[in-house]
Amino acid sequence: MSTQQTTVTPATTFSAEVRLASRPVGSPTADTFELVRTAVPEPAEGEIVVRNTWMSVDPYMRGRMDDAPSYIPPFELGAALDGSAVGVVVASRSDAVPVGATVSHFLGWREYAVLDAAAAAVVDTGLAPASAYLGVLGTTGLTAYAALTEIAPVREGDVVFVSAAAGAVGSVAGQLARRLGASKVIGSAGGPEKAAKLVTDFGYDSAIDYRAGSLDEQLAAAAPEGIDVYLDSVGGNHLRAAIGAMRTGGRIALVGAISTYNATSPAPGPDNLFQAAAKELNLRGMLVSSYFHLFPEWIGRAAGWLADGSLRTEQTVVEGIEQAPAAFLGVMRGANTGKMLVRLEG
Ligand code: NAP
Repeated sequence: MSTQQTTVTPATTFSAEVRLASRPVGSPTADTFELVRTAVPEPAEGEIVVRNTWMSVDPYMRGRMDDAPSYIPPFELGAALDGSAVGVVVASRSDAVPVGATVSHFLGWREYAVLDAAAAAVVDTGLAPASAYLGVLGTTGLTAYAALTEIAPVREGDVVFVSAAAGAVGSVAGQLARRLGASKVIGSAGGPEKAAKLVTDFGYDSAIDYRAGSLDEQLAAAAPEGIDVYLDSVGGNHLRAAIGAMRTGGRIALVGAISTYNATSPAPGPDNLFQAAAKELNLRGMLVSSYFHLFPEWIGRAAGWLADGSLRTEQTVVEGIEQAPAAFLGVMRGANTGKMLVRLEG
């Protein structure tokens, strides 16, 4: 990672930001990113200046590093990355958002953000700490909620399987599946520590360490009766194993496919898709952005569970914007348990 400095007057506020230095082929490296210090511009009428305190680190950003059409535009070479962040308003030219408010917005990957006040949402830090609005009360929690209520709805007595189960979405999804009436909840994660944690901390009945042996065999042992619902964050062999284990009429929420994000050639699809016909399965994709209308409902439910201690969450916190690229490389290889975050406050 290279560091570049712009010339600024002494009175200027500086902001470090992470830019895309090169488009990765395969796995990104430290050289994919550069840290640049810039002067923070004065806000225009209707704008606010936010000192970011936390920023979210998300696997989907890998797709935006490629120059390829997708549901969200690619990052521009040489420009700052963006993504979900929360922070405190330090200057405002908007009547709607006062100085001192804590807001969530989409201009992360920089210490200070200047944006239209209408693009920021004031969050209630009395309900939960600001960082929760990037995890369980943010899009990751909402992803689990939409997946298991709208896309592959959990019904009373269902057997539910969740991949990347110790991650941000997965650690919430297991506990949610139980609340929605699942009779058995099975999670998969990489390594014995994470697998143990699924059961001790995140409400799973049993755990699969996908690195420890055959996924098919471990899934058959955990659910000899088969599974009804699968939340897929991984794709590849996880999706194949889940299709194989599905009971008739089962539902699969296609949420992510992290095992393929760094692929340099097209990853093979599941070779057992005919079973989806034979078992009359429903495989349905989702983008959380289509479910933002569920935010009030989800936050209302989840905040209550957080307050009474019945919903357990975890964060993996990396300190300082300089470490943000390492946090991204980390989330892609499983360095996180729960939500991967960068803390920017002093
Ligand atoms: P996360 O689960 O907190 O972090 C990603 C995890 O993926 C890592 O911790 C790692 O855990 C696991 N992983 C990495 N490579 C893997 C592989 N080859 N096989 C199996 N597991 C692997 O991330 P998240 O933010 O909650 O996102 C989870 C998934 O949901 C991602 O695919 C993401 O793109 C997707 N997502 C989709 C939407 C949507 O709107 N559709 C919204 C949010 C997230 P281990 O240590 O267990 O390997």
